[in-house]
Amino acid sequence: MNIVIIGGGIIGLSSAYYLQKQGYQITIIDKGDITNGCSFGNAGYVSPSHFIPLASPGIVAKGLKWMLSASSPFYIKPRLNKELIQWGLQFYKSANASTVKNNAPHLNNLLQLSRELTSDIKHDLGNHFRMEEKGCLMLYQSAEIEKYEMDLAKDAAKFGIETQILSSKQVQDLETETEVTVRGGVLYPIDAHLHPGELMETIVNHLKKAGVRFITNASVTGFETRSNNIIGVITDQGKVEADKFILAPGSWLPSLAKKLGIKILLQPGKGYSMTFNNLEKNLQYPAILVDDRVAMTPLSRDLRMGGTMEINNINENVMIKRAKAIFNAAKKYYPGIPVSFPEANKIWSGCRPLSPDGLPYIGKHNKYNNLVIAGGHAMIGISLAAGTGKIIEELVSNKKPSVEIKAFDVERF
Ligand SMILES: Cc1cc2nc3c(=O)[nH]c(=O)nc-3n(C[C@H](O)[C@H](O)[C@H](O)COP(=O)(O)OP(=O)(O)OC[C@H]3O[C@@H](n4cnc5c(N)ncnc54)[C@H](O)[C@@H]3O)c2cc1C
Repeated sequence: MNIVIIGGGIIGLSSAYYLQKQGYQITIIDKGDITNGCSFGNAGYVSPSHFIPLASPGIVAKGLKWMLSASSPFYIKPRLNKELIQWGLQFYKSANASTVKNNAPHLNNLLQLSRELTSDIKHDLGNHFRMEEKGCLMLYQSAEIEKYEMDLAKDAAKFGIETQILSSKQVQDLETETEVTVRGGVLYPIDAHLHPGELMETIVNHLKKAGVRFITNASVTGFETRSNNIIGVITDQGKVEADKFILAPGSWLPSLAKKLGIKILLQPGKGYSMTFNNLEKNLQYPAILVDDRVAMTPLSRDLRMGGTMEINNINENVMIKRAKAIFNAAKKYYPGIPVSFPEANKIWSGCRPLSPDGLPYIGKHNKYNNLVIAGGHAMIGISLAAGTGKIIEELVSNKKPSVEIKAFDVERF
């Protein structure tokens, strides 16, 4: 069976990884050359700790407050756009305790599956992507966030996720090279982290060796369909036919789905990261600076810091004030880290594909017999990639998915 995967981000590549193992003939089409994009410059967490979907109680009020500050971790460019308004209304509807109570167990199941499978991928392909399985710290400086994190740790226990509550001194004892200024922290030992760009490169190399065909710098511009079947995709390099099609184009999912007459609510949520190489003193643990919503990822002697959520049209522009806020937060928590604010052209940006309820879209669409959609992985696409890829293979092979996928229904809105 010939399968075309549209999108060579982590979701497309993970799907190819599992499909190829079953002997399918795979072609991956990407409009870029698969060396940059959202799946490359992110924070690289593989984090079951993120079992609460983005749309959660309190987030709307917090978001509105953040909107007033140019250096806050959140921004929506105000515009009269039908899709944005529909997305916003659905986000608002989803950000309540009972929806989260329903959705979190499904997210947890997929996170747990993915966590296990990511370790398997490391063993299968070799750890060429600096994966470390030592956990992730949630650090806080304020009493308000301390309380929030304590409650979250209790919720984690309900899912059987271990946490360790640490005093300021215990956090400092873990960080042997740098001073840490915190009130305390929570360690999630199950979390892991890796270099996402090196993970992407490792999977691409493996797939190429395994005979997967890559068509790069080819933008998909349309589809050829016959009744309930897709026959081929039209690209600016010509038509590619196949038996089945996987749509995994990240933040471009709504525009491509629209060409198939399918409506998907999704907005791009741009974030930034800055990477500093070869540091004399580095962090020992990845950490989320929860008060400021900043992610810190040590990768051997390198350090990546990332954050910010800008909901705007897809672009690569960087708002320096917001990048500076990420940097300043890092310095506030770790005053001694030997880094200085980089030049603007060294600041990376990427767009997270945000669904309005914080759950991914995974599944078939009843409009076509031979289409599977995989997208909307928001802030946790690396964490969910392996599990998503496995489920895509199971759907294509008409097997029962490893976890219940009803909550990820692509037609739920
Ligand atoms: C600052 C930041 C930090 C993050 N940190 C983490 C983290 O620590 N852990 C985590 O789990 N997640 C994290 N994420 C989220 C994660 O990066 C995303 O969820 C993930 O990369 C999405 O992968 P994707 O494959 O769906 O999309 P993408 O990586 O965007 O890939 C989609 C691909 O489709 C291609 N494409 C689109 N349209 C077309 C077309 N018409 N024709 C051909 N090709 C097309 C694109 O070129 C692209 O290569 C972070 C994101 C950001 C921005």
